[in-house]
Amino acid sequence: MSLWNLSRRSQAMQSSAIRELLKLCERPGMLSMAGGLPAAESFPAEALRSVADRVLREQPAAALQYGASEGLAGLREWVAAHLRSQGMTTVSAAQVLITSGSQQGLDLLGKVLAEQGAPLAVEAPSYLGALQAFTPYGPRFVPIACDDDGPLPDDLLTLPQRAPGCRFAYLLPNFQNPTGRLMPEARRQGIVAAAQQIGLPLVEDNPYGELWYDAPPPAPLAARWPEGTVYLGSFSKVLAPGLRLGYLVAPPALFERLLQAKQASDLHSSSLAQHLVLALLQKDVLTHQLPALRARYRVSRDAMQAALQRELGGLGDSPEGCRWATPQGGMFFWLTLPAGLDAQRLLEQALAASIAFVPGAEFFVTGTAGPAERRTVRLSFVTLSPAQIDEAVRRLGTVLRAALAAQGRGPLEGALGGRTESRHATPELS
Ligand code: PMP
Repeated sequence: MSLWNLSRRSQAMQSSAIRELLKLCERPGMLSMAGGLPAAESFPAEALRSVADRVLREQPAAALQYGASEGLAGLREWVAAHLRSQGMTTVSAAQVLITSGSQQGLDLLGKVLAEQGAPLAVEAPSYLGALQAFTPYGPRFVPIACDDDGPLPDDLLTLPQRAPGCRFAYLLPNFQNPTGRLMPEARRQGIVAAAQQIGLPLVEDNPYGELWYDAPPPAPLAARWPEGTVYLGSFSKVLAPGLRLGYLVAPPALFERLLQAKQASDLHSSSLAQHLVLALLQKDVLTHQLPALRARYRVSRDAMQAALQRELGGLGDSPEGCRWATPQGGMFFWLTLPAGLDAQRLLEQALAASIAFVPGAEFFVTGTAGPAERRTVRLSFVTLSPAQIDEAVRRLGTVLRAALAAQGRGPLEGALGGRTESRHATPELS
């Protein structure tokens, strides 16, 4: 018997496949489309340096002292005002809990709401980090059927029969991780109406809502049903993930419990980080930062779209072809590879060609990824430059053509953009 007897809870824990993959991506020459890492060049380092100097000169005690578990009052006020401007008109600062990244919000929700064996409804596929956060609390994950517009209201309506006692539905309406899809206005209305009809609370995770490249997304679900929705937001994608600051907005009935859970977990989020972020926001940094980020990522999105079209396009008419939709925001393309391919197996060949992606099966609840799910792939377009994206997708085309050729699927050669293998062979593969 071991000296350390692990709890049942800890035995359910798993390390994220993406984090493991990211370690491999540190190899020199690797062009990774795996992690959703914001472009480092976009971090407001100069602005942070100057506010850090001021905060530490003018408010050293407050910035370095223990603080309130709820978070810094001014920051909670800012978040509440910001969300009111986004359509969540009833939000008050008293409902805002500052968290150590929205990832902590997910953990707190698992701790406070999930129960051993009780169902939790999740989109299929869903954000891996949320599945990871909820798993130790022993829920039974119940996938909600989705189409290109997100979860289907009719499927939500079947939950009382197939998942009685479901604690909440975890939803990502804006540029979902991993699919990049946006839930349109009509679908939002349908989902909220269905949730209200069956009395199912919603958890709305929105780290990507500000990263829109064509038009701003419709109002959040929480704007439509404030008393039935917990809303999660983050400064990671709009300022910098290393600050580890996010927030949640909870109805008063739930807020106290989440606050107690937060207190037990880390007392409060970093005072220094909160002071720095508040000072940045008061300097109106987002007014410059957001348009610059959108412009930058739009160019990257368009570069990946053009590269995919060139390397993997021409397959639209073929049922065996590659399929994807152009994301209107966020960080990811979601590809469906030709029938018969397995993204997990292709990853080895991709790594040999010094590129990386995340096989889509990772984002489905364990045991629910069939052959159709196993040929999906998530590609991030925000970390690499447009030139690197071009090269990475070129290598991806080579890997796919090699895999199809190995299957003896010659005719698809034409379907994959009409290029021949040799023209695209990379030194690593040839
Ligand atoms: N939710 C989603 C959908 C995410 O993609 C991420 C980060 N990848 C998070 C939550 C966590 O973000 P953070 O803790 O940095 O706020």
